[in-house]
Parts: sequence; C-alpha cells; structure tokens
Amino acid sequence: MPLLADVAVPVPLSRAFTYEVPAAIAAQVKPGSRVVCGFGSRRLVGVVLGVTERPLPGGSIKIKPITAVIDPEPVLPEELLSFLVQLGLYYFAPIGEVLRLALPAMEREQVRALGKQGALGGDVKQVGGRKVAFARPTDALEAAGSLRGQAAAILGLLRASGEQPLARLEERFGNARNAVKRLAALGLAVIEMREPPRDPFFAVTEKRDMPPELNEAQARAAGRIEAALNEGSHRAFLLFGVTGSGKTEVYLRAIAACLAKGRGALVMVPEIALTPQVVARFRARFGDDLAVVHSGLADADRHAMWTRLRRGEVRVAIGARSALFAPVPNLGLILVDEEHDGSFKQEEGVRYHARDMALLRGFRAGAVVVLGSATPSMESVGLARKGKIEELDLPDRAVVVATLPKVTIIDIKRIGAGPTGNKLISLPLHRAIDETLAKGEQTILFLNRRGFAPSVVCDACGAVETCRDCSVALTYHRARGGRLRCHYCDYEGPLPPVCTGCKAAALTLEGLGTEKLEATIAEAFPRARVARLDRDVAGGEKSEVILERMRGGEIDILVGTQMVAKGHDLPMVTLVGVVNADASLSLPDFRAAERGFQLLVQVAGRAGRHDRPGRVLIQTRAPEHPAIQFATRHDVRGFLARELLDRQEVGYPPFSRLALVRIDAPDEETARVAAARLAAVARATPDALGRRVEVLGPAPAPIARLRGRFRFRVLLRAKERGPLRAVVERVAAAREELDRQVRAAIDIDPVSML
Ligand code: ADP
Ligand code: ZN
Repeated sequence: MPLLADVAVPVPLSRAFTYEVPAAIAAQVKPGSRVVCGFGSRRLVGVVLGVTERPLPGGSIKIKPITAVIDPEPVLPEELLSFLVQLGLYYFAPIGEVLRLALPAMEREQVRALGKQGALGGDVKQVGGRKVAFARPTDALEAAGSLRGQAAAILGLLRASGEQPLARLEERFGNARNAVKRLAALGLAVIEMREPPRDPFFAVTEKRDMPPELNEAQARAAGRIEAALNEGSHRAFLLFGVTGSGKTEVYLRAIAACLAKGRGALVMVPEIALTPQVVARFRARFGDDLAVVHSGLADADRHAMWTRLRRGEVRVAIGARSALFAPVPNLGLILVDEEHDGSFKQEEGVRYHARDMALLRGFRAGAVVVLGSATPSMESVGLARKGKIEELDLPDRAVVVATLPKVTIIDIKRIGAGPTGNKLISLPLHRAIDETLAKGEQTILFLNRRGFAPSVVCDACGAVETCRDCSVALTYHRARGGRLRCHYCDYEGPLPPVCTGCKAAALTLEGLGTEKLEATIAEAFPRARVARLDRDVAGGEKSEVILERMRGGEIDILVGTQMVAKGHDLPMVTLVGVVNADASLSLPDFRAAERGFQLLVQVAGRAGRHDRPGRVLIQTRAPEHPAIQFATRHDVRGFLARELLDRQEVGYPPFSRLALVRIDAPDEETARVAAARLAAVARATPDALGRRVEVLGPAPAPIARLRGRFRFRVLLRAKERGPLRAVVERVAAAREELDRQVRAAIDIDPVSML
C-alpha cells in the first residue's frame, strides 16, 4: 500500500490534502514537517499533519507526490501541531491559515526559490541565515540631476537617516533592490551583508536580582501552583490580585519551579505591556534563558528565537498574543497576565482568543495554566464559579506601606469648570493637580479619546463630518497643520472650509481629546512639565522613552489614553484623574460596563503604589453607574457579583455561548441579502427550530459601514456548545454559495461587538 500524507497548505479551505510520499524521502516526512507540494499549477509549502499507509482513495482524484522536504526535523513539535489542529476546529478556521500563525518566518526568497525549482538541491542553506543586506551611503556625490525616482528617494533617505536594511527599504519602495544596485554601480552606496540589529529587549545586560521574601498570600498562591506542577498534570488557576499585589513575583516563582522540573514555561502579556521594563523583570531572574516573541523582530531574529526554543536551548518564552504558538519545549506552565485584556483576542484572520486557547493548550500538554488579573474577565470568573479553575487571592498590596488610593467621584453635571473654563477640567480636579505639583509629585490624567477634537460639527445644519468610507465621525488632529482622521480606516484629509452637507462656513470643533487636554493643561499650569502618551505620539519603543522620563521625575503631568492605565509601576504618581469616565461605559456592547470598570480600576491602580498615599478623581455625568460606584470602593468582587447577575438575567456569557456571523459587502443590498440568507439557514437548523440555539438578527452592525463595506451581523446564542457548533457548521457551509463580493466571517466567542 502507498504511503500517504495529509498536508495542510496555506489556502483558505478548511481541509488538508492528500499527497503520496516518495520512498526516497519517507524517513523525513513526519507530522510537523514542512514540505513542498504541487497545488493546481502552483507550488506551495505545506505542513504534514499525519502519515499513514492506506489504499489510494478511489474515484478520479489523482494523488500527486510530495516534491521535497524542507526541514530535516519537523518544525512543529507534536504537542503544538495537535493543539493547532484543535484550535482550527474550534474556530472553524482553515487549517492552512492556522498553521501559518505558528510557523517561523521562512526567508521569503527561499520559499520563492523553492516554488521555482520545485525541489531542493543538496546545498540549500539552513533557513534563517543570520546575515542581512544593508545599504549604506558613501561620500561620493552624484552629477546634478543624474538621479531620479526611487534611486534618488532612497539615496536621500540613506543620507538623512543612515544605513538601512534592504528589506526595510523594500517595504517602502517597490523597486528598492534595483535602485540600490544602481546606486552601488554609481559608487553612491554600498551593499553589505551584516548581522541584523540586536533585539532591543536584550540591548543592555540585566543585573540578576534576589527574589524577595514572599508575603503570606503570595506564598500560599505560589505553593498551590507549585503543588500542581509537582502533580505533573493539567490544572488551571485564576490569580486574582489587587493592583500592586505582587502577581509578577508569583509568576517568577512558578516559572522557577517549572524549570526545576525540567519543563518549559510560556508567559503571555497584553500587547502594550510587552515593554523592556516588564521583560527586564523576567530577565533579571532567568537571564538569557528567555525568548521574547514580538512583532518587531526581523525575520532572521524570529527564526533564531524559534530555533533556540525548538532545540531546548531556551526554555522560557514571553510575548503578546502570538506567543501562544511558541514551540516551548516540554511545556509545563502557561501564564496569562492581565487575562481580561482585549488584546488577547485576534480580530482578523483566525479570530482566536489567546487566553481561552492557553487553557486548551495547557490542557492538551498537561501543563499548569495561571490566569492573572486585578479585574478578572467574566469568562474566567464564570469558570472559577463552576469549579473548572481554582481561584488564588492576593488581597493586599505587596509593598506594606502602600494602601489603595482614595477615590472621589466628581459629578460634572453639578460641579463646574475650574479656571480653564473647560467643563472637563473641573475645579476640584484643577485644585488637586495644583496641590500635587506643589508637593513635587506626579499626576496622570486619563482620557480615552485621541486627537484634538473628537468631532467636527456644523453649527448651521447640525451634521457631523464623517469618514467617506466609514460611518464614523472624523477626529480633528492638530498635529501636522490640522487634519481630519478616521480612527477606523487610514483616511486622513484636510479640515474642509465649509460643511460637506450644507456648505455653510460654520464648522466647529467639539469635544476633548488628549491632544487638546495636553495643550489646555500645559497652558493652565505653565510651570509644570506636561507630556502625552497615546498611539499618536508613542508606538512601541517610544512609549518606553516617555515612561522612562516619567520614572526619572522629568514629567509632572502625564496625559494619555489607556496606554497610561496598564501595569506601570510609577512610584511618584499620587494623583490620577479620570477626565471622562462615561465614554467607555456607553458603548452598545454587553461588555461595556465590564470594560469600563476594568479600565477605572486599572488606571486608579497607578496611584500611590509605594510609600506616598494616592488619590483618584473620577469625573462623570453618571455617578450612580454601578461600574463607577464599585470602582470608587475598590470593590471588584462586588462588581463581579452584580455583573454576573445582570449577565444571567439577559443570558449573555458566561451564561451562554455566542457566535457572531459578520457579513460585509461593498454594496448595502448585497450585504443585506447575504445576511438574511445566512440567518435563514441558521433558523432552519434542527437546533434552532428546537430552541436550543437562538438566532438574533440579521441587523446592521453598530458601525454600519467600515472601509467602504456595509456590515451586517447575525448573532447565534446557546446554552451548550454542541448545538451552537451544529448551527455554525451549517452557516459556514452556506457561505460558499454567497455572492463573490460578500465576506462572511465567523467569530466564535466574539469580544468586539461593533
Ligand atoms: P502586580 O503585578 O500585582 O500589579 P507587581 O508585581 O508589579 O504587582 O508588584 C508591585 C510592587 O511590589 C513591585 O514594586 C514589586 O517589586 C513589589 N513586591 C512584590 N512582591 C513583594 C514582596 N514579597 N516583598 C516586597 N515587595 C514586593
Ligand atoms: Zn474611515
């Protein structure tokens, strides 16, 4: 009987394809191996899921042979491969796309070369060679006017900003390679093969630290986790610790215990928490036995990191969502810090939730999983209530003298503006900032709106300027001469002189964004050093620079979006002002209260973390809102209990399971028809008819138009997973027959409802 392999190829079809394994390469074709195989007229790199001796399938299907094997050893360890297959099934995602999430970056050229030759010669380099090509300008000068187009642009860039990796130039200039060759031929630039730049997370060597003595609650939590590691089988915990309670120290102990057992550990943190400062705390304990998985890595670095983990040279991986797929050897422990954070959900392509999947991977690997938070998600609280995960509590701040800050609500319906005249900088807030400045301490002002003015309104007709491609109000940004920007697509344009609707010259800027808040505060407190932290001023490494200045006492008042709310340990911050608490509480989403509450607690948790007592002022128009009331009392448990009751009453998670079918098309009618069709298919299933599954909709999405596409949705809801899956399966199959312009995505356990 022939030897047949099931191969997942990167195409948007959910199944694997069968290929024959030629005898010559049979020894290397194993589950997890990458292979080259023909697919139609193309050649693709696929991953072997399984190999069996079995009869050729009957019928007219012609089985092709595998052309070549890429890796001498499978790239994906068995544990990771089988987990990925399960993940694909859970999310109804094509297996090829799921595998792509996990595969190390292959050098694109090599894949291309493989595609062309279709086979591997004997001298193929190991994937992930360490050298990369750099272009460097020379001192030579060109004859005036002799250069044009991309060559001129690239030379200008090289002279302005110094040498650049060729790959980066290619991202910006389609013809970079040829242009640089031309420059090199003219003696204006040279191409050099060099080591890629070092990973910024390892730029400085970290001094080893001494583990502090754990307090009682930490010791109890660490002890439970260690006991579970000793058992050597799967167990899951919810580490519920107030802000500043020392959860990280518990993680560090757990990792040490795991390593002592000879097993590897995986640490996942929210995207914006993956900062050099956070990584440094892990490096200080584990030195270079740590791989940092992040999107800023060059392909070669990513591959090197992958290989070191795969070979077992490094046993601890830390990273954001995508670290879920790190090939940690003999995985014994998965830690998910700030498990409630929304960034663990991927909102495009394979829409997986890294926290949920951490539980799945841990279960399959026989590993211990710890979900940590000061404000646990309702999902995790639900699991703890059902006894599926064990709750561990850290009720007090770790630094003994630190107490939780005193929180005061300012009802801005009643309390007027301070000296600035802006209602959102009330008199009590203004005074508190003054007092904090006088004491030489620091203030954080939190406002969840970027830009200068969140909307531009016509005084004549009342219309709001909206994006041409999205049903979203445009935000006015003052930077770069004043521009209107859509925060949902890439649209950016000038502020029109007149209203787009009625043509009256009566446009006015409305509302308050962080840009304007920063300017207003700087003007009102001329002696204070004011800075801003949001996505517009600080992507990635730059935010670290701002936080470093904050830590060094070079900033008195920091204005920012939720980027200021997360995890930072800033000892001199004693005042936190929540400028407008209502913005996040009013979204059309059943999780609005939960998210608003989490944000309030997290941002309040930045105040008074060390020896100086802190205080928090929350400005709101809805002082009686439960999220605000419970946050004021630091009563997380109270909020969770109440929110659980609310969820139970309306039948939302964790008391039900959801699947959201997202339908969009360039044309409104096409999208509407497709949505109605899928809803009808869902309603006609036995489970929907038998009322085991509810079908809600179709309805226009809250953001009815996005990037030029009209959006509808159908929500499926059930008590049990089985019936829900049965209905989703029907819907998934029915997608194939829709108009080609329609996209219909299935979002299992949706997070964003917009
Ligand atoms: P969390 O992650 O729970 O918000 P952190 O882990 O950042 O809290 O800890 C808060 C502060 O307490 C840090 O400065 C940390 O060094 C300190 N800390 C943690 N555990 C202890 C301990 N057992 N003894 C003294 N200080 C501690
Ligand atoms: Zn837009």
